[in-house]
Amino acid sequence: MDTSRIINIVYSDSNFSLNTAKYLKERLISLGYKISDTFDQNAELIICIGGDGSFLRTLHHNNFPSIPIVGINTGHLGFFTEINPNEIDYFLEKYITGDYYIEIINPVIGEICTRNDCIEALGINEIAVKGDKSRTLHLDISVEDHLIQRFSGDGILISTSTGSTAYNYSVGGAIVDPRLNALQVTPLAPINTNAYRCFTSSVIVPSDATIKVHPEYHFEDSIVIVSDGLEHRYFGISEISFRMSDIKLKLLKLKGSNFWTKAIEKFL
Ligand code: NAP
Ligand code: MN
Repeated sequence: MDTSRIINIVYSDSNFSLNTAKYLKERLISLGYKISDTFDQNAELIICIGGDGSFLRTLHHNNFPSIPIVGINTGHLGFFTEINPNEIDYFLEKYITGDYYIEIINPVIGEICTRNDCIEALGINEIAVKGDKSRTLHLDISVEDHLIQRFSGDGILISTSTGSTAYNYSVGGAIVDPRLNALQVTPLAPINTNAYRCFTSSVIVPSDATIKVHPEYHFEDSIVIVSDGLEHRYFGISEISFRMSDIKLKLLKLKGSNFWTKAIEKFL
């Protein structure tokens, strides 16, 4: 075997993750792999030990790498994580024999513009647009420059298919099979009165659609943008433009692994 093969191991700080990382490292070294102490861009694989949160943070902190990634679940739910800690040897056997496939997912990108400049945010699960200081948020939402909604409520989520089982699902959004590459706009506590009327269900648009959001500032001019749980506050946003990014994240899946089996195992 080529002894220059490098694997990045990233782990959360629980004792369980630490011990799992130690065992994994020993096994990989005995198989001839090199384990880098820091994140190596030349690695052939990233193994993330933790839960979904660690998985998401690993991708965010390393600038959405194109290296395949697989997770070992020492967290709570583990929707992203493919392997249980007691299956490490089984996984390594499958990895070495190439008994796996790569699922490609695209994060959603939000271009957040104020009068002066624009900043980009990326969400693997979703980007949430929320009001600040618990005030009602008013947003004009357009798809391909057609105004579809004047939304009033707590905010909206722009969720990927991969993220459809996360926050999106908790607020009544649809679970989307990730083979369907789409973006879902899901309202957070939409108001439906004679004063304000807006959609109460999700709206699903295709992968090449652009969703534009223009805030109307009735009270506060600050808006909270949350990308996969990472919160940022912006003042005076004039427009946010969402679309599917070209970034390709490569999730390693074991052959036979299936979205619906996982959904049933984790939810029902
Ligand atoms: P967290 O508060 O620990 O996450 C909440 C739960 O969502 C955890 O059980 C997490 O799994 C799970 N999760 C994450 N991605 C998922 C996915 N694609 N499908 C199904 N479940 C998923 O925060 P976190 O671990 O840093 O994760 C960030 C994500 O939390 C955000 O992207 C957002 O989707 C979600 N979130 C949900 C709510 C809500 O449901 N009300 C509120 C805020 C944020 P683990 O236990 O394995 O970490
Ligand atoms: Mn978590």
